[in-house]
Amino acid sequence: MDRAPGSPGSPGSAEEEARRLDAADPLPSLRGEFHVPPAPGGAHAEAAYFAGNSLGLQPRSVARYLEEELADWSRLAVEGHTRARRPWVDYHEQAREPAARLVGALPHEVVAMNSLTVNLHLMMATFYRPAGERTRIVIEDTAFPSDSYAVHSQAVHHGLDPEAAVVRLRPRAGEEHLRTEDVVAYLERDGARVALLLLGGVNYLTGQLMDMAAITKAGRAAGAVVGWDLAHAAGNVPLRLHDWDVDFAAWCTYKYLNSGPGAVAGCFVHERHVRDAGLPRLSGWWGTDPATRFRMEPRIAPPATADAWQLSNPPILALAPVLASLEIFDRVGMAALRAKSERLTAYLAGRLAAVPGLAVVTPDDPAARGCQLSIRVADAGGLTERLADSAGVMADAREPDIVRLAPVPLYSTYHDCHRAAAALEGLLG
Ligand SMILES: *Cc1c(COP(=O)(O)O)cnc(C)c1O
Repeated sequence: MDRAPGSPGSPGSAEEEARRLDAADPLPSLRGEFHVPPAPGGAHAEAAYFAGNSLGLQPRSVARYLEEELADWSRLAVEGHTRARRPWVDYHEQAREPAARLVGALPHEVVAMNSLTVNLHLMMATFYRPAGERTRIVIEDTAFPSDSYAVHSQAVHHGLDPEAAVVRLRPRAGEEHLRTEDVVAYLERDGARVALLLLGGVNYLTGQLMDMAAITKAGRAAGAVVGWDLAHAAGNVPLRLHDWDVDFAAWCTYKYLNSGPGAVAGCFVHERHVRDAGLPRLSGWWGTDPATRFRMEPRIAPPATADAWQLSNPPILALAPVLASLEIFDRVGMAALRAKSERLTAYLAGRLAAVPGLAVVTPDDPAARGCQLSIRVADAGGLTERLADSAGVMADAREPDIVRLAPVPLYSTYHDCHRAAAALEGLLG
């Protein structure tokens, strides 16, 4: 594109500065390893994609992983269970080590299986054991709807009144975020009634990153089980689930983990539980010791690993993209990604702060957010459409008044952030 002096791309302009930051960043973009969709509206070749918190972009390597499974299926049929390049019988094993590194777990504490809400239910079947006074499930008031429905139905399942059993923690009047000290104070005050604390590690709406270490500690000190929904945290922020002493966690892999729509989810169960053979579980044949599985015995012999919670043989075609994606995270490492994420997000936050009439509801403190910035605007849906049509900027709206923008460090660029900020200036200014 030709640029006249003084035009947006000229030296010293914001656009030029964004390009300079892209060229100079210590972690070069891996954008070339992803399929970036064409820009809606046609004003640019590629979209400035900010919806990776909703559905991550497709790694180019996914096709190869899938093609290999399709080829092995056509070539080997049932023999593929043992003779495929990546044998299907224990295919999920291949996700174990990289998934453990991703969430800060020991390998036998994690398993890739099912989808997120299913895993939450399986975890609650084991770990939500209301008894006596201790019946409450505590979530945040801005919990994702699926989590609200899941805990509500768990209370009903146990014959409890969900209105009484489910407690929704709210920020203080006039504030956007839950304060750690308020969650801790609640647990100190009412903890004896709490059976399960189940919060989002990063809130899907506000983008707030919770202090998982402090809250887990307070929850466990109160005698509650502490589980985390990491849908917006896994692949976004570094996690240390084992060291934090988290009881269980679950996450989906189609958001920051780029594994495709409805891809297989992840699950964490702390070591102290995987060793406990007496825990009640909902079981299936992939939850028995693989060494004796095909003896087809009527009684289960669960291994001392998170695999004991598996039900079914793994869906290979939905797991292949998870392996492809984990390979990228493993290669780059969460520490380097987080460092870049902080730089990119700070740049976008700085640009958004300069747009008149735009309020960012995500915490300012980089330690209290991942890469998502949520902005509050009057007509979130309309603005999101105009961003796409006028500037090829793909964000996502949560009605009525939140637009979420996630600069994802693997494939988003400073230039994408510049495009988003410039478009918002144009539309709101
Ligand atoms: C995306 C998301 C879900 C989605 O659940 P699925 O079972 O994967 O459909 C659930 N909870 C949270 C917090 C989410 O962000």
